[in-house]
Amino acid sequence: MAHRFVVIGGGPAGNEAATTAARLGAEVTLIERDVIGGAAHLLDCIPSKAMIATGGAVSEMKRAEGMGLREPSIDLDFDAIRTRIAGIEDRLEASVTGLLTSQGVRLLHGTGRMLDAHTVEFESADGTTEAIPADTVVLSTGSRPRIPDWAPIDGQRVLTTRDAYPPPELPEHLIVVGSGVTGVEFVHMFSALGSKVTLIVSRQQVLPQKDPEVAAVLEEDFIARGVKLFKGARAEGIDVGDGEVAVRCDDGRVARGSHALLCIGSIPNSEGLGLEPLGVELDHGYVVVDHNCRSTVPHVYAAGDLSGKLPLSSVATMQGRKIAEHALGLHAGPHRHLDYDKAASAIFTDPEIADVGLAEADAFSEGRKVRVTKVPFSASAKALIHDDPRGFVKIVSDPATGVVLGGSIVGRHAAELISVIALAVTAGLKVGDLAECLLVHPALAEALAQAAE
Ligand SMILES: Cc1cc2nc3c(=O)[nH]c(=O)nc-3n(C[C@H](O)[C@H](O)[C@H](O)COP(=O)(O)OP(=O)(O)OC[C@H]3O[C@@H](n4cnc5c(N)ncnc54)[C@H](O)[C@@H]3O)c2cc1C
Repeated sequence: MAHRFVVIGGGPAGNEAATTAARLGAEVTLIERDVIGGAAHLLDCIPSKAMIATGGAVSEMKRAEGMGLREPSIDLDFDAIRTRIAGIEDRLEASVTGLLTSQGVRLLHGTGRMLDAHTVEFESADGTTEAIPADTVVLSTGSRPRIPDWAPIDGQRVLTTRDAYPPPELPEHLIVVGSGVTGVEFVHMFSALGSKVTLIVSRQQVLPQKDPEVAAVLEEDFIARGVKLFKGARAEGIDVGDGEVAVRCDDGRVARGSHALLCIGSIPNSEGLGLEPLGVELDHGYVVVDHNCRSTVPHVYAAGDLSGKLPLSSVATMQGRKIAEHALGLHAGPHRHLDYDKAASAIFTDPEIADVGLAEADAFSEGRKVRVTKVPFSASAKALIHDDPRGFVKIVSDPATGVVLGGSIVGRHAAELISVIALAVTAGLKVGDLAECLLVHPALAEALAQAAE
């Protein structure tokens, strides 16, 4: 009998687990209550990047003067933006659904929960239920925005990230609460589209988890755009008045604007899955998993945001693949586990920010000896051709062996360029390998080779 592999949640984690398991010969069922592709495609990652791309087009047009063109006029059409985002989502949903069905995955539209250790209950929208026997269960139900009790979310003036693609109207003055990755992306997006923006920053630096030098470039850009920063302030209340919202902070300051947007993290979708009675251990709602993404019940795995590891689509996808391979016996011997420390990540601001592996600041705080080399894009012919010399490439390597340990890039196309350093970190390449690569000229990637010299 084929291995019965049941997945609850059809985001990047669930889809990859399902297609990989099907390719390996399992009989796969995938239950999704909303849209195949998950929140990643419908609500978070893809629509936010589509909005940022529109903001980026506006910024490029504003830069056009420096390229010898007269500034064209910018006229935002929110209906067209909405249609464009919906079009991207439809195409992605169709392509993922096509891939799943072509692999023979059985797709069920409705809600899944565990009945007992080897049975998943499916319930469709009309209330019909089916008990599905399972040899392996993958929980990949994702997460949703955290809403504190002091925030009167109404989807009109007080928004979560999921109300913002695009919001009902372009905010005249948006107050963004939270200066992590999501917060700064929204600051960039709306200020590029023409909104006035105030950012509430709970610490003394935006992107508190990032290299201070990297964060400083972004802060400089925000200030140049007229973004107001409330540093060292925590929001603790929002009052909605006639045409105005006021965000009250714990230091007594009040930020006033037309709209407020909360970017203060997410919470896992683990309630209602029937986990606790089965002995699946949770930590603050996240499923506790081992290095193979197995929960405390060995044939029940968790992947993606629900696993409480790195909340990134790319990580979710890789976890899904590793789970299928593990459950179907591909990793019977020793194998390479997922190393979250080597995951590349990017922030889609302008300039873009990307990093991978060991950061200079972390090496310093750990007292670890490293070699750090940095090349500014102002020395790059391609950056000058594009009239955009902002930012730099930084490579962190082992001074004894030359092995590349990490790197950061701030600048145009940083999210693409970081792939080269990510490959070096994953494959254990040395700086000499990067420096000797014969690259295209002129290209921004030349700065990587220079930083590796
Ligand atoms: C604003 C924003 C921007 C982001 N941008 C990026 C980015 O640029 N790059 C990046 O890598 N990551 C990004 N992320 C993170 C990324 O979106 C998540 O890490 C990713 O969606 C996690 O995938 P997942 O498979 O765990 O869950 P999801 O994509 O959340 O999918 C989970 C699915 O499970 C379904 N589900 C839930 N409960 C049930 C149930 N009981 N039965 C059936 N179905 C159920 C849901 O409907 C959903 O479709 C962003 C996040 C946010 C909030």
